[in-house]
Amino acid sequence: MKFYNTLTNKIETFKEIKQGTIGLYTCGPTVYDYSHIGNFRSYMFEDLVKRYFIYKGYQVNHVMNITDIDDKTIKKANEMGTSLEEVTSIYIKTFMEDIETLNILKADHYPRATEHIDEMLETVDQLYEKGYAYKKDNSVYFSIEKFSDYGKLANISRDALKIGTSVDADEYDKDDVQDFVLWKGKKQGEPSWKSEKFGDGRPGWHLECSAMSSKYLGNHFDIHMGGVDNIFPHHENEIAQSQCATGEQFVNYWIHCQHLVVDNQKMSKSLGNFYILKDLLEKGYDPMEIRYLLISTHYRKLLNFTFDGLHQAGQALRRMNDFIFTLKGLKPADGKTAEISHLIEKSEAKFRENMDTDFNISGALGVFFDFIHQVNLKQKELKKQDIKNILDFMARIDTVLGVMKKEEEKMLDAEIEAKIQERQLARKEKNFQLADAIRDELKSKGIILIDTPEGTRWKYEK
Ligand code: AMP
Ligand code: ZN
Repeated sequence: MKFYNTLTNKIETFKEIKQGTIGLYTCGPTVYDYSHIGNFRSYMFEDLVKRYFIYKGYQVNHVMNITDIDDKTIKKANEMGTSLEEVTSIYIKTFMEDIETLNILKADHYPRATEHIDEMLETVDQLYEKGYAYKKDNSVYFSIEKFSDYGKLANISRDALKIGTSVDADEYDKDDVQDFVLWKGKKQGEPSWKSEKFGDGRPGWHLECSAMSSKYLGNHFDIHMGGVDNIFPHHENEIAQSQCATGEQFVNYWIHCQHLVVDNQKMSKSLGNFYILKDLLEKGYDPMEIRYLLISTHYRKLLNFTFDGLHQAGQALRRMNDFIFTLKGLKPADGKTAEISHLIEKSEAKFRENMDTDFNISGALGVFFDFIHQVNLKQKELKKQDIKNILDFMARIDTVLGVMKKEEEKMLDAEIEAKIQERQLARKEKNFQLADAIRDELKSKGIILIDTPEGTRWKYEK
């Protein structure tokens, strides 16, 4: 398995630290507002990568932080005239609901910054004692001059470092490379935590990911991910803090997802060119259409968001779901054909080959649609076991994509069939009230009945 490592600027062969397991850290939301679908492009790509590792048999230990204290969350709480916790709890709740709606697998840990202040202070202490950090004006800063590898991730030359100046803001530009803040001295109107050694204050944003990743994954782990805007300063600073505090290599592979853009501009809160999930659901889009759209472009390419793109994603999804529906409706003879077994084997190998090559999702989806096309050509020759094997294959691929309708999670086919028979009987007995009630019950579960001269068939809505 090979993919692009931002740290080395190279496509590298993946080798895990501990055989069969992967420590994965992904930067999570800053909960001062709703996540927009640009954020979800990154989270969804991270989910695709995680699912693919699981499909390949790895055990993935996934940690995603929740930034519930920083400049933005404090500002929002002050604007709303409420406590920090009241504000962040609203957005944490919505974030968790959105994750579920978008079929993103849950992380093993969602550590919150405010619950790990002790660990962060300990990291500050290690850096201070080793001479990488200094106190100035009630705050503590990291001295970038002291770390010879500073700038390696973001490709910043040492000449560009502004030695002797420091920055208090969490976010700043690549042409403003300065000593960054680890611990911010207490200020009026801001929450603060006690520290005898460094004075009361609160953590800088970058510090939380260093402290929390090593708590849950150890000092040295396999993969760290985020959007490309995280490369500088956030991830650059994480590397500096962690490696200087522990003296160990921090992360082996850094993977960054390109932005979701609108008219060539990054989708972002500050530009106002964003959609949150709820906006799109209210317009009638299915969460799986959104998921399909966001995962189907290669992660190192910009993805331009358009409604036309969403419609096309919907069409692609319907091709998959209709294919499954059609297969389930066939009444084939017993047995299986060598040709279909061979086709499945070949298609799965090609799917893997594409995903193993820097997560080439477009190639992998191409293989999948070609498979559907090939099976459709042979529909009349399919045998019972072929259909089972095809559906199993589809389900296996969907453990990676996570976009197809999952009937079994809703109602077993046999249960639906039993309901349909019950309705048939009711109609025969002219008990239309019961017949309608059964139809309505199935509809409430997203199942549509289609009465045909050959009997009643069913399918999932959309
Ligand atoms: P934030 O809440 O701003 O810290 O962002 C959370 C995650 O979303 C980070 O990994 C960002 O890199 C990512 N992100 C923000 N905007 C976009 C975008 N337009 N496209 C893709 N990822 C984004
Ligand atoms: Zn982070």
